[in-house]
Formats: sequence, structure tokens, C-alpha cells
Amino acid sequence: ETNKETLGFQTEVKQLLHLMIHSLYSNKEIFLRELISNASDAEDKLRFAALKDDKLYEGDSELKIRLDYDKDAGTITIADNGIGMTRDDVIANLGTIARSGTAEFLKQLSGDEKKDSKLIGQFGVGFYSAFIVADKVDVFTRRAGAPVEEGVHWESKGDGEFTIEPVSREQRGTEIVLHLKAEDKEFADGWKLRSLVKKYSDHISFPVVMKAESEEEDKKGEEETVNDATALWTLPRTEIKDEEYKEFYKHIAHDFEDPLTWSHNKVEGKLDYTSLLYIPKRAPFDLYNREAPRGLKLYVQRVFIMDDAEQFLPLYLRFAKGVIDSNDLSLNVSREILQNDSTVESIRTAMTKRVLDMLSKLAKKEGDEYQGFWDEFGTVLKEGPAEDFSNREKIAGLLRFASTHTGESTQNVSLDEYIGRMKDGQKKIYYITGDNFAAAKSSPHLEVFRKKGIEVLILTDRIDEWMMGYLNEYDGKQFQDVARGDLDLGEVETEEDKKHQEEAAKEHKDLLERIKKVLDDQVQEVRVTNRLTDSPACLVVGQFDMGAQMKKIMEAAGQ
Ligand code: ADP
Ligand code: MG
Repeated sequence: ETNKETLGFQTEVKQLLHLMIHSLYSNKEIFLRELISNASDAEDKLRFAALKDDKLYEGDSELKIRLDYDKDAGTITIADNGIGMTRDDVIANLGTIARSGTAEFLKQLSGDEKKDSKLIGQFGVGFYSAFIVADKVDVFTRRAGAPVEEGVHWESKGDGEFTIEPVSREQRGTEIVLHLKAEDKEFADGWKLRSLVKKYSDHISFPVVMKAESEEEDKKGEEETVNDATALWTLPRTEIKDEEYKEFYKHIAHDFEDPLTWSHNKVEGKLDYTSLLYIPKRAPFDLYNREAPRGLKLYVQRVFIMDDAEQFLPLYLRFAKGVIDSNDLSLNVSREILQNDSTVESIRTAMTKRVLDMLSKLAKKEGDEYQGFWDEFGTVLKEGPAEDFSNREKIAGLLRFASTHTGESTQNVSLDEYIGRMKDGQKKIYYITGDNFAAAKSSPHLEVFRKKGIEVLILTDRIDEWMMGYLNEYDGKQFQDVARGDLDLGEVETEEDKKHQEEAAKEHKDLLERIKKVLDDQVQEVRVTNRLTDSPACLVVGQFDMGAQMKKIMEAAGQ
């Protein structure tokens, strides 16, 4: 044939395929979840596109996913009548990985298959997981509304290249044929496939149909629906099992691991919507990439509208995933409309509160789940006080810090714990900032605190000083940088301490003036201090001057 072209996979795809085939062998069956998930997405996309142009249905608006197998041939077929793909779509979607930062991410892979299989969870496996069980994959597809002759046949052995050729295709949508590896033929079995659909894809919104397996000749081959096919979030909470929540998460979040926690709520009244929010266990590799997809999956009256609707959550909660299904928004809603819509604004306020409440609940729970969350997403949450002034007290309650109490760099001390340990008469929450933990911990500024047994929080993330600029107090107690301004230790400081300091200042008046003269314009003031017990002198930043860390950030930004 002349029209058949052979193309190479993008390097990243080759690496990913290799990794997947070699590290996911203990969890092979997930290929079916991924392919059905894609089929369901394709049906969603068609239903949305058909809102504007119902010719796209081509007279067939009964959306479903067909699953078939051939034991003798060792094949499984997953077919949808969804949106389908053009030739260009196929080359882009099944030949490359579009997420930016992928190449750098894959460079971190160690070659240790066990470790790497965990990393792949940060990535999501998707279509390419077909090659875990198949040594050849055929894709037949036609974009809804395109002429019959514009069908496409894609084929690959997963070994670095694929072929693509035009074909005629009556049926719109996509059909994927897996030619199972010799050792994976067991998947070409009706009961096996049914149990996998139940386990992984019971609550996608569309029916998955198979031919009936019956002894009676007349019933054999009749089509039957093998999943529940009601969108999970539309069911009452009491009818949903944890396992079902977890599987649904993997479908919508394109994640490979279970979520950490979730929250499912139906709101009726002034606003009418259902939300199902999840917190992932692990940060995606592109959490700090500004262009990385974020936001919720938006449905209006159960019709899928868009992925990554960013308007429903603030940026500092970008790690949250989930679905929002609104009965108030119009089916014609667009990204532009979402940007200044008062309904969206109200839902966003509620969603923000929901996520913060979910985190508070998790933090109160026994065990180390919250710590796990903090280790993955803590630095993102630290953007909160600046971005969301009205919730800053709530956010502050969720922060975790390293502290002189533990003496370790792990950020695991909450402000509530700190307050619980405050000395009699102590009025402020003390903290020190620095470039790294070791330096901050051995700072001379901590000497007097050590002597008095007062705990100091140790803040060494790049974002910390900036964040503290937006946090003035918590639970009515002011924050105080120990390296700034006058040190007020409240009533922990005795009258004697104060008298002693005053006397020393008088006694050494001449010395102080001499030092000031020598240092000239390098310092603003030279003072006697009660800050130090061992060191002879230290530098202090003015109460309202820019801190050292902040100065560095500004300098790096060229200011
Ligand atoms: P993801 O689902 O996370 O986008 P996948 O690797 O699973 O990633 O799929 C890659 C892309 O290929 C999808 O985003 C979609 O554009 C396209 N695709 C895959 N399967 C289908 C399908 N059955 N119908 C239409 N498009 C599909
Ligand atoms: Mg997918």
C-alpha cells in the first residue's frame, strides 16, 4: 500500500513504554480501566460537541462502549461511538506526550523498576498501558462528522514506531484491538473482563456492553450492559463504597494511585450543584509548572462540559481534583463566561472552604496521612495566606513547621501545638528564617530562647519569609521574627533581665558609640542586647526592613 506511513514515537513515549512494560507487570489489569476511561472521555466530548451540532451524532445518539474478545485469536476489542480522532489527532495523541516537563521528569528515572513504577503514578499511564498486555495494538477511528473515507488505522508493536494509513470507516468513534501477549491470553475471557469492568469502571457515565455468555443458543450473543453506568457523583453517599470512590478518582484524575481522601456533597437551595473533591496522595511532576493542567472536571446537568475548569478553586489549592456538576450554569457556558460569573464565584468560595475543611479533618485524624499530604503539597499551601486573605487563619492552622522543640528539619509542628507549649507570660509566636535548616538552627539569635526554654519555629523554605509577610497573627497571637527589631519576650522576661540590660547599656555607652563610629554607615544602630548568651554580637534586621531571604529573592529577580 502506498498510503501507509511509518512514523517514530517521540523519545519520551519510547521511554515511557519501556518503563511501563517493565514495571507494571504486577498490575497488568489496569490497561482495561485506562482504555475504558478514554472511551468514556470520548463519549463525554461528543455529547458536549453535539450540544451545538447534533449532526455529529450521525443518527446514533445512544452512547456506549462495546467490549468484545476472541479467545482463539487472543484479542480484546474496546470500541466507543464517541468523538473519534482525525489523522492529526492520532499522530499527536498516540505518538507524543504533550505535557511539558515530561523529558526532564523521565530523566529522573533510576532504572530501578520498583522505584520507577511509583514515579509513573505521578504521571498517569493512559493509552500506552495497552502495551502492558499486548504485543500489537490496532486503532481504528473516525472523527464524528467527518466523511467515511477519513477513517484512520494506527498500528504499533510498541517497539519505537507506528504505522498510520487512511481507511474507510462507517462507524464514528474509536475501536482498539489488543493482540494479547502469549502470557496474557487469560484476559480474553468473558468472566474475567466482566469482573474487571465491575471492579474498575462500574461508575463511569456510559454503559459498557458485552455479548451475553449463555448456554441457550437464542440468548447467546445478545448485548447486555455489564456495568452500573450511573455517574458516581449522582448516587447518594451511603450507596457508594470506598473502593468505588477510589476507582472513580483514578478515572477522572488520570492517577495510578489511590487518593488520600475525598469529600462528596450535594448542595440544594440558592445554589444547586454536586461536588466530589479528592486530595491525591502524590504531587504530579509538574505541580510547579504554570501551564500544567489544574482545576475540576465541569459538568452541567450531568453533561460533561470541560476538563481543567480552573475557576472553581484558587491556585494554592491546585492539587485538589474532582468533579463539579452544576444545575445553575448554562450548557453553553465557556471558559470566558466562567471567569466572571457570580454563580461560579459562589461555588468557588464553597469549594475552597470544602478543601480546607477536608484538610483540617485529615489533620485531626490519627496516623500520618496529613504529614504525607504536607510533605507533598505543603509548599503549595504556603501560597495560601497571600492569595486568600479571608481564609488565612484557617490556612495558618494547616501549616506545619520545623521547630527548636523537635530540633529536626521535618516540618511537623502545628501552630496549635506551638501555642500549647508557650511559656507562662509568652505572648508571641517566635520564628526564625534562613536559607537552610542547619544554619538557622545554630543562629545566635536563638541563644536567649534556648536559655529561657522558649520554642522557636524554624522557617527555611524559599517561600517562607514572603508568606510570613501575610501572616500577622494566629489565634490572637502575633508572629515575631527573632532576628528583627526589639526583642520583646513578654512577661517571660523578668524585671531583673530588663534592669540588667539597662545598666549594661549605661555602663558601655562609650563602647557602643565607638563601635558605631567604626562601622559607620554599615549599621543603623549598635545596642546592648539580651538576645545573646554565648556569642559576643549579632546582626538584627529592623522591624520593617526586608529580611535577608526576601532580599535574595528580590536580587535574583533583578530588583
Ligand atoms: P489522557 O486520557 O490522560 O489524556 P491517554 O494516554 O489516556 O491520556 O490518552 C491520550 C489522548 O488520546 C487522549 O487525551 C485523547 O485525546 C486521545 N484518545 C485516547 N483514546 C481515545 C478514544 N477512545 N477516543 C478519542 N480519543 C482518544
Ligand atoms: Mg486516559
